[in-house]
Amino acid sequence: MKIFLYSVGLIAVALAAVVTTVQIPSVQGILLEREVAQRASNIPEDLFVDDAVRVTLCGSAAPMPVRDRAAACVMVIAGGKYYIVDTGNRSTNNLALWRIPSARVGAVLLTHFHSDHIGDLGEFNMTTWAQGRPGPLTVYGPKGVEQVVEGFTRAYALDSLYRTAHHGKEILDPAVGKMVARELTLDGDSAVVLEDGDLKVQMFRVNHSPIEPAVGYRFDYKGRSVVVSGDTTKVETTIKFSQNADVLIHEGLARHIVKRMEKHFASKGDKRLEKIMLDIEDYHTSPIEAAEVANEANVKELVLYHLVPAPPHALAEWFFMRGVKDIRSAGVTLGYDGLTLVLPVGSNEIRQLNLDARY
Ligand SMILES: [Zn+2]
Ligand SMILES: [Zn+2]
Repeated sequence: MKIFLYSVGLIAVALAAVVTTVQIPSVQGILLEREVAQRASNIPEDLFVDDAVRVTLCGSAAPMPVRDRAAACVMVIAGGKYYIVDTGNRSTNNLALWRIPSARVGAVLLTHFHSDHIGDLGEFNMTTWAQGRPGPLTVYGPKGVEQVVEGFTRAYALDSLYRTAHHGKEILDPAVGKMVARELTLDGDSAVVLEDGDLKVQMFRVNHSPIEPAVGYRFDYKGRSVVVSGDTTKVETTIKFSQNADVLIHEGLARHIVKRMEKHFASKGDKRLEKIMLDIEDYHTSPIEAAEVANEANVKELVLYHLVPAPPHALAEWFFMRGVKDIRSAGVTLGYDGLTLVLPVGSNEIRQLNLDARY
């Protein structure tokens, strides 16, 4: 007992000494300098080494509120540049936190114009401009993208003026801070978005009726491939454009959970939320259906994102994934913000890492 009390006393004295020491301004100065230097240098340049395609979830949730997850956002890195599929709200915070270098931005590609896919477009444009993007931001999308870009541009026009006035044209040139909309017309079910060296990006039609058009994207680079579904039901075009893909990032709505929510709201007499729950059930894909899509397309790894509702803890993740293993016993990952898949060129390997854990 004596030894225990003696140890507790020693620890208390040591803690008091630490607390006293960090109050000293010169000590704080040293600690702050170290912290600033560490954060400033923590740029993930390894993600941009041109030996692999990499894909990171910068947002794994949908409109339903949840902690620690941004709304829909996927970053695909290939050929030294990164491409952002959808800028869901809070996704720019993730990208800035992970110190993704703005000088390497390729383009933004929008799947459709629901707010959980476009909410951060203005923030993404403003943040990457301030952090040194070399030119205007290109925003690809189906019909409607011009209107969306025009709207965000107008909403941020005053802020752009403030920034240039404050920091000067040398630092924040308004010509660089612009967004340029590139509206693509589907030729049948698809369109080529861009071909840049070894990178080819295609857009394909999905079914998110009554939202029309809604699209997904396929990225091919040096024999490796990534498909992002956007919001859709289980649809033939996703299966067609995901054939033999390495990674399929597919949306998932756990219908069995949403049905329960619908019944709960009905029992409470909340007609509005009951109706909304009912309406969303039939224009998304269940995790089981997404597993079927991945199987039918012979995809190596299926990653579920745009999770409705996004599971807030491990137990909820089990509920969310109920029945998936019966359809697809391996090659399925439930997405989270920061999940990164590395696809080395010249191999079939797919490695996973958590980018968020570095920060
Ligand atoms: Zn959505
Ligand atoms: Zn949607």
